[in-house]
Amino acid sequence: MSQRIKVSERALQVGAFAAPLSVRRIPQARRIQLHLDPPSRGLVLTLPKRAPLHVGLRFVREKALWAQNRLALLPKPVAFRPGARLPVAGLEHIIVHRPDSFGGVWRERGMLIVTGRREHVERRIADWLKREALRTLDGRAREKAALLQRRVRRVHVRDTVSRWGSCSAGGRLSFSWRLILTPGYVLDYVVAHEVAHLAEMNHSERFWRLVERLSPRAREAKAWLRVHGERLHLFGANNG
Ligand SMILES: [Zn+2]
Repeated sequence: MSQRIKVSERALQVGAFAAPLSVRRIPQARRIQLHLDPPSRGLVLTLPKRAPLHVGLRFVREKALWAQNRLALLPKPVAFRPGARLPVAGLEHIIVHRPDSFGGVWRERGMLIVTGRREHVERRIADWLKREALRTLDGRAREKAALLQRRVRRVHVRDTVSRWGSCSAGGRLSFSWRLILTPGYVLDYVVAHEVAHLAEMNHSERFWRLVERLSPRAREAKAWLRVHGERLHLFGANNG
């Protein structure tokens, strides 16, 4: 039995199921891509510079059942509220609010303690995670770049949907702050990948050999990201 599929610039509908769709045009994109956007439980269609919209929407139609299945399997979002559980460097932590203490946010035996007023808890946790991510990623990137005798100009953290990291020709590296949620070897691999691009701006065999030299558990890390990566986008969503 086939279900009726409807696709517009705003939504995908498969029978009674509907998901929001957003379309973005990225001039550097090499092909049409469809990604899940876990926080909105929706989809993002990426179009390269010259791809016509109707071709993109046809692509969504072809992927409709895949998208519906993937969205149906998404776990619930986790807001950064007291009592919420989230991984920090791959280890589960529970958010504990201590309104009468001082000191901001810190880790303590499986707890992520946050002080101050209740209405600031979500933002404080998010800010802390981003700072931790930047500190860790920056340090690791400079260490690895030194091994290749390359220079990192600047490290940024962002909240990217489709890529965990990127590297510009000028030596600027950019990473998803959500890598701070992953086990250490996963963050390590993503850093190694971008740092290796400072030496090899391609995905040649030489590039992959470099990645494995910089990060011995690269294969395992890639597999981890394929299985768990999407779920990382559910942390910090406000609708959980
Ligand atoms: Zn790459």
